[in-house]
Amino acid sequence: MKPFSSFSDLSAALRSGETTCRQVVEFHLSKISEHNGRLNAFLEVFEQEALENADRIDEKIRSGQAGKLAGMVVGIKDVLVYKGHSSTAGSQILKGFESPYTGTAVDRLVREDAIIIGRQNCDEFAMGSSNENSSYGPAVNGIGQNRVPGGSSGGSAVGVQMEMCRVSLGTDTGGSVRQPASFCGVYGIKPTYSRVSRYGLIAYGSSFDCIGVFSRNTYDMAITLEVMAGKDPFDATSSSEPVPSYSAFGADGPKKTIGIVEETLTMEGIDPQVVKNTEDFIQKLEDRGHTIKKIHTPYLHEALPVYYILTTAEASTNLSRFDGVRYGTRSKDGVNLMEMYEKTRSEGFGAEVKRRIMLGTFVLSANYYDAYFTKAQRVRRLIKNDLKEKFKEVDFILNPTTPSPAFEIGEKTKNLLDLYLADIFTVQAPIGGFPALSIPFGNNREGLPLGIHIMADSFKEKELLDFSKNLEDIS
Ligand code: GLN
Repeated sequence: MKPFSSFSDLSAALRSGETTCRQVVEFHLSKISEHNGRLNAFLEVFEQEALENADRIDEKIRSGQAGKLAGMVVGIKDVLVYKGHSSTAGSQILKGFESPYTGTAVDRLVREDAIIIGRQNCDEFAMGSSNENSSYGPAVNGIGQNRVPGGSSGGSAVGVQMEMCRVSLGTDTGGSVRQPASFCGVYGIKPTYSRVSRYGLIAYGSSFDCIGVFSRNTYDMAITLEVMAGKDPFDATSSSEPVPSYSAFGADGPKKTIGIVEETLTMEGIDPQVVKNTEDFIQKLEDRGHTIKKIHTPYLHEALPVYYILTTAEASTNLSRFDGVRYGTRSKDGVNLMEMYEKTRSEGFGAEVKRRIMLGTFVLSANYYDAYFTKAQRVRRLIKNDLKEKFKEVDFILNPTTPSPAFEIGEKTKNLLDLYLADIFTVQAPIGGFPALSIPFGNNREGLPLGIHIMADSFKEKELLDFSKNLEDIS
């Protein structure tokens, strides 16, 4: 099959009969068999089912009945539930769990005739920045050189990077779509909090969690997001704000004012090649007539502690439901109910998840609640207000997506703080609930991909996507 760079070309070719959904699925399956044994991006491939769906949708195309995503082959992160299929959140505690229903985002794609090709590896319960916390072994970056793909949606990023699927659904709580997108040289968007229903997403930090998209171009990301987004009666926090047609791109509109967070280019520890690459990108924006404005985010260093206090607090309550009774596996050793709970959770959760449950329980405990949880909530508000103010002066806020390119597998597992720092530039957006995307741009000297992070005010996905589209020829 000839490669179709964007889904709109593929869609036209399907409708003209130049290719078929079966050929498209076979193409992605061949990429999976070529790469997945080595890269461990997919935990399960729905091979037979994807081929059957392809034949069914080919029939619909022939009779003019096909939905808008006919031929879109999608991989889904292992934290999204899909009826009749396993979802394990990368954890042993959910081994064997099969979902009795399909989450809204996946359901909306399937209703438009997208084909789900498999479920993708991730850090356990989406906690991690390198995919090394998956209890099913790490996913590996397709770039080689023994590099991590980023996390937590590492498998989803690699799936798109190596064309094992056309787009992937990941989730982003503190950077888990944007950071792996940057490490793997693909696009990744996290929409505004509440833009996409969380129904059917296995929760980590409920006031942060967002479903996002990985793709190889802006169009594919836009059309996927447009189908998933919108009010959902099953998620009370989902927004009823109308969903614009993201994939109907505007012409290169008025020039933008872009805020550059100065600290992100001068902070200690940032890779000089990342700085240089970001400066090159900024220069290109200036050449195109956009206005660049240096700005300061005074809370850059507070953002990480706020993120870790609040998300671990939310995780400690969200994960209390995994007790061996309601879902997944149960320890066989407990002699009474309490012991069964304890053993199930001790055996079922990995080290990082346990660490976060303990930290979260601590910050919520009566004696420390105000000192940690309440205080972090207050600082969250300060960060959000500060960014809101900035968006009165600038259209977008730009920085590198990550302070370094993809690191080596095992390089940061001994120093967790170092690992947490990989998210320093991505946590502000979910703290404020703002949409943001990572655009692939440039490589370091070893050929490792780098990314540019662009954040906008709430519900400005359309503006972000238009901007990204218009920059495709430079990225
Ligand atoms: N890497 C961050 C963490 O470990 C973000 C994870 C995410 O966005 N799910 O929590």
